[in-house]
Amino acid sequence: MSTIFKKIVDKEIPADIVYEDDEVMAFRDINPQAPTHVLVIPKKEIATADDVTDDDALILGKLFLAAAKIAREEGIAESGYRLMVNCREHGGQEVYHLHMHLLGGRSLGPMLADMD
Ligand code: 5GP
Repeated sequence: MSTIFKKIVDKEIPADIVYEDDEVMAFRDINPQAPTHVLVIPKKEIATADDVTDDDALILGKLFLAAAKIAREEGIAESGYRLMVNCREHGGQEVYHLHMHLLGGRSLGPMLADMD
């Protein structure tokens, strides 16, 4: 089933788009968790990281290439950043259209939130 991200890809709803090519789109997260918080997504609808196939190998690489390009443009490549993909319930995935979070602009601390 299509998600809000598909509507962003189709330009049916607005987003602050920072990168776009034939296969990849990237836009600022509506609820940023860091000074730079960009979502990098394939235009193709892939629900989760568990739904990728061999056919998606190229596009998965392109997500990383786009993220690195955006990080350089955002001026956070030198200081560093975090790329994160949440998968399904235990991963905390809310939107079931594969996306990579690009987070940076401050020290991000430990990788996992304290769940106590
Ligand atoms: P997830 O938890 O699925 O890994 O992350 C989904 C992300 O999408 C969240 O960080 C959330 O703030 C963001 N998000 C949800 N709806 C929208 C929207 O309509 N526009 C934008 N730009 N981001 C959204």
